[in-house]
Amino acid sequence: VTRTSITSVNPYDNEVLAEFPAMSDEEVDRAVAAAHDAFQGWRWFSPAERASVVGRAGELMRERREELARTVTLEMGKLIGESRGEVDLAADILGYYAEQGPALLADRPLLVEEGKAVVASRPLGVLLGIMPWNYPLYQVARFAAPNLVAGNTILLKHASNCPQSALAFERLFRDAGAPPGVYTNLLLPSSRVGRVLDNRRVRGVSLTGSDRAGASTAERAGRNIDKSVLELGGSDPFIVLDAEDFDRTVEAAAVGRLSNMGQSCVSAKRMILLPDVYDRFVEELRRRFASLVPGDPLDPRTTLAPLSSEQAAKTLVSQVRDTVDQGATLVTGGGRIDRPGAFVQATILTDVRPGMRAYEEELFGPVAVLYRVAGEDEAVALANDNPYGLGGAIFSRDLRRAERLAERLDVGMVWINHPTSSHPALPFGGVKCSGYGRELSDLGINEFVNKKLIRTF
Ligand code: NAP
Repeated sequence: VTRTSITSVNPYDNEVLAEFPAMSDEEVDRAVAAAHDAFQGWRWFSPAERASVVGRAGELMRERREELARTVTLEMGKLIGESRGEVDLAADILGYYAEQGPALLADRPLLVEEGKAVVASRPLGVLLGIMPWNYPLYQVARFAAPNLVAGNTILLKHASNCPQSALAFERLFRDAGAPPGVYTNLLLPSSRVGRVLDNRRVRGVSLTGSDRAGASTAERAGRNIDKSVLELGGSDPFIVLDAEDFDRTVEAAAVGRLSNMGQSCVSAKRMILLPDVYDRFVEELRRRFASLVPGDPLDPRTTLAPLSSEQAAKTLVSQVRDTVDQGATLVTGGGRIDRPGAFVQATILTDVRPGMRAYEEELFGPVAVLYRVAGEDEAVALANDNPYGLGGAIFSRDLRRAERLAERLDVGMVWINHPTSSHPALPFGGVKCSGYGRELSDLGINEFVNKKLIRTF
């Protein structure tokens, strides 16, 4: 048995914050068994009883806002203001399912000629969540809240670089009165996740992360006939059709690309601009990117935070360098910042063409690629010429035109006149290599349930 440790490192100064031994196979087996035992009780609680535990966890989250936000910032480096925002959104999600969950699970009567037919939504059992570090609380909330209200029990394997956030989340449920085994954190490296999926008591898996991790997890789940939901990468288009509301649009582009230091699956990674906005847009975005102030993400004056890890910074810079070597134009940024920590300059690339790394790959950091297109048809062709299909944004004063264009994008979510975002009541997810299934809203609570028919004569 490999007994590696799970280490929390502050990407601001590369200091080790905490270290935890990974669980042994025996400990994991016991956790699965406990989650299965807990399911035998939890499934018969009423949805309202389960919802009240989830609601209480949401309240505790708000009470612990500062402490949780600090943990997130220390562990993965995001600006403290953004960490607070993440706590609020995660608490909103817990609150949303606590309030709406029971109604979203209500029995659905079907029209039949004789007798009765009802479709009930019943839990499947033990679910495994595999979550990434980019939003350590939000990602877990949107998996855990609906599934706990639905009556499933949860094992959570969080990213190896945010064990403290993972443990803090587990404590919320324990302190909210969830019976033992209902929510269990697994401190485990990804190399040992397959064994959990092979356990017959685990009935489903939801993974948010890279397409590589998604493919290998779905393959393993498939072998075990377990339901899976995948929320994977994205390379979202941000299409600007006209120059009206120019300042608001550029501001949205900067927010869309730079929030969470660009480490978001729905970041505005590819900006697609029509000719009459292009030049002004490049210049104004350049000005904003160049004015960011690097520093300690705990300091509210900082506007440029480190990336989540040294490795993330290295990968991003090599993607940019290779793209420039392949002939693209570097408008601003392009390298590391001369200080300790995982800092990368906010970067803009233009003249990016098919075959270049920045065209083909997801850029998980503060790098915007700006494309000039002749018109709408070219904008759509470019937007859809991508392995991913997560979100997309369209900016125009002409809403009918924007909505027509939205129809033509092969993505799971389109936001018009707003950067792609997330809200508890709105579905979240994609198509193509961005995965399948949806989280949040009524759709999210119906992924891991048995739609059970009861037909009575
Ligand atoms: P990652 O390497 O795939 O890690 C995500 C999670 O999967 C971690 O818990 C990781 O554990 C685990 N994992 C990695 N390889 C695995 C495997 N072979 N089998 C099972 N589990 C495995 O992702 P990342 O690169 O750190 O995160 C960024 C990616 O997530 C980006 O592509 C981003 O677009 C995507 N993302 C998508 C969404 C969405 O909603 N669609 C949201 C946020 C992020 P370890 O840490 O132990 O390796």
